Amino acid sequence: LAKDRGRARYEVFDDDLRGRIERRLDTELALRDAVQLGEIETWFQPIVDLQQQTVVATEALARWRRPDKGLVSPGEFIAIAEEVGLIKGIGTTVLGQACRAATSLGGRMAVSVNVSPRQFVQDDFGVFVKRMLKETGLPADQLWLELTESAVLEAIDSAARTFQELRALGVRLAIDDFGTGYSSFSHLRSFTVDLLKIDLTFVRDVERSDHDRAIVEGIVRLGDSLNLDVVAEGIETTGQRDLLTEMGCRYGQGYLFSKPSPVVFPNVHFGDLLEAASGD
Ligand code: C2E
Ligand code: MG
Ligand code: MG
Ligand code: MG
Repeated sequence: LAKDRGRARYEVFDDDLRGRIERRLDTELALRDAVQLGEIETWFQPIVDLQQQTVVATEALARWRRPDKGLVSPGEFIAIAEEVGLIKGIGTTVLGQACRAATSLGGRMAVSVNVSPRQFVQDDFGVFVKRMLKETGLPADQLWLELTESAVLEAIDSAARTFQELRALGVRLAIDDFGTGYSSFSHLRSFTVDLLKIDLTFVRDVERSDHDRAIVEGIVRLGDSLNLDVVAEGIETTGQRDLLTEMGCRYGQGYLFSKPSPVVFPNVHFGDLLEAASGD
């Protein structure tokens, strides 16, 4: 009897596992053709100056439009793309779309593009970005590249040169999800960046949690003393916005202002920001 029960459990486990493996293989297979079939789209979310109430840049965020499954979020395919070696194609597509979109705005607004570790470690990444800027006509200072600390860590040997190349181009470099990775401080010492993006997990409870408020305050102060711009991610409420502004955080991003949108310059749901967006 015990043996039967054990076996039944195995079968349930097998079904579950088989289902997951099948879905994963299905995703992988479909992802292989996604770039070729033009299924990778770039959406945009504004980054705003909290005090001036203006839009200073827009972040490019990948979306995968699967014919039978609708719009797929990066959380469901970026990690897989990295694992199976498809991230370069996707990254190139998004970078190209992002640069072209920003160019179409007449170079008035910067675009911030996420770069995966795999892209960053390719030793010709600097050359690749240079070529992309030339091809799309985007001025280098209108391109921001967002790296995670793990990207920097993985590229530790080649990173120094790539960093130099990108800085020489005049591209702005940001550390994304700041505070969630390892040894943030040693990275800041070895590599010069321009921006820190405070991870949204710290912003979420900034009003309720003394702990999170202290961390956010610390990052803002660090940015001040190192002369880096700081962007708070995931601002959803006016309370969060006001507190961050009070703390001296200059830039913000989040659903309060706008959700990611397929339009490069979406209306920003924030009083004066709307004017700033439609005016020049
Ligand atoms: P990220 O770069 O840290 O982007 C911020 C994520 O937070 C985005 O999710 C954005 O839609 C979401 N977000 C923005 N404001 C709010 C808010 O107020 N509340 C909440 N709860 N969420 C907010 P998304 O678009 O699903 O992207 C997830 C992650 O996928 C990104 O995190 C980034 O790491 C990665 N990713 C997206 N596009 C690309 C890409 O083109 N290349 C690479 N390598 N990674 C990408
Ligand atoms: Mg980002
Ligand atoms: Mg982030
Ligand atoms: Mg994130």
